[in-house]
Amino acid sequence: MSNTETMPAETLCGSPAGTAGADAPAPVEVLTPRDVPLGGPRAMTVRRTLPQRARTLIGAWCFADHYGPDDVSRTGGMDVAPHPHTGLQTVSWLFSGEIEHRDSVGSHAFVRPGEVNLMTGGHGISHSEVSTPSTTVLHGVQLWVALPAEHRDTAPAFQHHVPEPVPLDGAVVRVFLGSLAGTVSPVRTFTPLLGAEVTLEPHATITLAADPGFEHGVLVDQGEVHAAGTLLHPAELGYLPTGRDTLTLTNGSAGPARLVLLGGPPFGEEIIMWWNFVCRSHEEVVQAREDWMNGVRFGEVRGYDGAPLPAPKLPEVALKPRGRLR
Ligand code: MN
Repeated sequence: MSNTETMPAETLCGSPAGTAGADAPAPVEVLTPRDVPLGGPRAMTVRRTLPQRARTLIGAWCFADHYGPDDVSRTGGMDVAPHPHTGLQTVSWLFSGEIEHRDSVGSHAFVRPGEVNLMTGGHGISHSEVSTPSTTVLHGVQLWVALPAEHRDTAPAFQHHVPEPVPLDGAVVRVFLGSLAGTVSPVRTFTPLLGAEVTLEPHATITLAADPGFEHGVLVDQGEVHAAGTLLHPAELGYLPTGRDTLTLTNGSAGPARLVLLGGPPFGEEIIMWWNFVCRSHEEVVQAREDWMNGVRFGEVRGYDGAPLPAPKLPEVALKPRGRLR
């Protein structure tokens, strides 16, 4: 997905706070989404919970858009023309519908419910995303992962994986990145990460073993979910700081609940996000934008019917990193 804000600001991500002490885990923070239109006359809208002022990163997770369920006959569905990425990986996960993906390393793939598509932008990639004609309801998440400094110029790549559903008492877990509930995803990441879909039966509670070095995010799609005792409504993202060796999730509703669980150790590096780029300085943002507009570095997407997306205007205010953390 492309960040379709018409006047995107640079966002400095990476907070020195967020690491709990050795005592009781810090409380859960509730992050509420803001609505961002994806553009076009019938503009499908996404709910963005990362980055935001109160929190910019959860592990290396730096961007979280949640959308649908949308009736595509009303919204027109998704049609995102070729656009570039650098310094990040994109993670696409659907609850319903189907998206056709094409990228500049020659991948032509379909994103389907229960199947993860992870695209490594590395030094530079471009891709298009279009919901297919068979899609009636589009519903899912689009997530980005920041690449650490030593791997951010890695070669672009594309991975697809279908995790085996793990049945638990009252729940089903699908682990698309990292390990949870005794299962491990084979998908390669450049920092330790957790990404999983959890569905809970009405009024079910599960307790999962967690890595205390990880911070976690609980993005609720459906139901009233209590994460470590804190109530989260649909579209809210609960942030759980490091220091927990278990995660207790309860469905407080009489219907099914669904959430996406994110995690990773605190990223420890500052990044500057602008449009679809994760960089380390304003100068790198300027260079990436120029490279895209000049048709270099990000390759070419074949098979998309239409022109690539132009980059927005550069921000008037250039951000400076505050310096590497600790
Ligand atoms: Mn994209």
